[in-house]
Amino acid sequence: MQHVTLNNGVRMPILGFGVYQIPPEQTEQAVTDALAAGYRLLDTAASYGNEEAVGHAVKASGIPREELFVTTKLWVQDAPAQDNTRRALETSLTKLGLDHIDLYLMHQPFGDVYGQWRAMEAANREGLAKAIGVANFHPDRLLDLVFNNEITPAVNQIETHPFFQRTTDHDLMREHGVQHQAWGGFAEGRNNLFTHPDLTEMGEAHGKSAAQVVLRWLIQRDIVTIPKSVSPDRMAQNMDVFDFSLTDGQMARIAALDTGTTLFFDHHDPEMVTWLSKRRLAG
Ligand code: NAP
Repeated sequence: MQHVTLNNGVRMPILGFGVYQIPPEQTEQAVTDALAAGYRLLDTAASYGNEEAVGHAVKASGIPREELFVTTKLWVQDAPAQDNTRRALETSLTKLGLDHIDLYLMHQPFGDVYGQWRAMEAANREGLAKAIGVANFHPDRLLDLVFNNEITPAVNQIETHPFFQRTTDHDLMREHGVQHQAWGGFAEGRNNLFTHPDLTEMGEAHGKSAAQVVLRWLIQRDIVTIPKSVSPDRMAQNMDVFDFSLTDGQMARIAALDTGTTLFFDHHDPEMVTWLSKRRLAG
């Protein structure tokens, strides 16, 4: 497995397994299958409701803790967020059955962002979170966070796929030492990504699928990616992307697919800001 080194020296696999939208009752099996397929980076979140199931699969696997890289995410907290954030992290650790998390991400750039971040910084200093980062931060919010806090986020996990490539965000993150991580690397199959003629044709040239071309394209851009699948065959396929390289011409052909806009929702849209800011997790 190829790794990236985060801005605090922590090493992170460049390819992992995401569990968003896997129902809790299916998650233990999916994570068990993913670990058997060789995944060592697991990406969950308090808001996915499946941290406990991830924890059961991790424990049952018997894989040494130091070989695993587990990410979870803090949901939006009201001000003053420092105590709430600490409690939320402790709840996630209990559900996961872990004494530390490898990467703790602020899930949304909303709520008491600075209170949340300072509590995350404290957790990082205590070793409860080996690295801390954010998700869904546009450049303006990210830079403001970087300029007004001690610890620069190690990671920003943002929607990134061939139809929304985030090149400006990528360059800015690189300049500030923030690792780009893709969510929705397959755009959840939107725009017929898995049968897209260009991606399929490029895959055929390498004996690979369109999905594998997309993962390879992300890896060649030094973007950490966490494809989700409940199918062991597709999990194996998604891991099998380290034995070929896309040419410069193929990278350029994929670059031409960028539409520059989200296929999901815009974190600048007042309706989305309102919905995400007001949503609270039960318990
Ligand atoms: P995704 O990985 O882009 O796409 C998942 C979809 O692709 C599923 O429907 C899956 O179906 C299908 N699939 C997977 N491999 C395939 C293959 N080789 N061929 C054909 N179909 C395939 O979507 P995502 O789950 O939204 O994103 C990935 C991860 O990013 C999430 O699981 C989560 O950990 C993270 N995420 C984070 C945020 C955030 O706000 N920070 C938001 C969204 C997601 P099957 O399961 O049936 O194979």
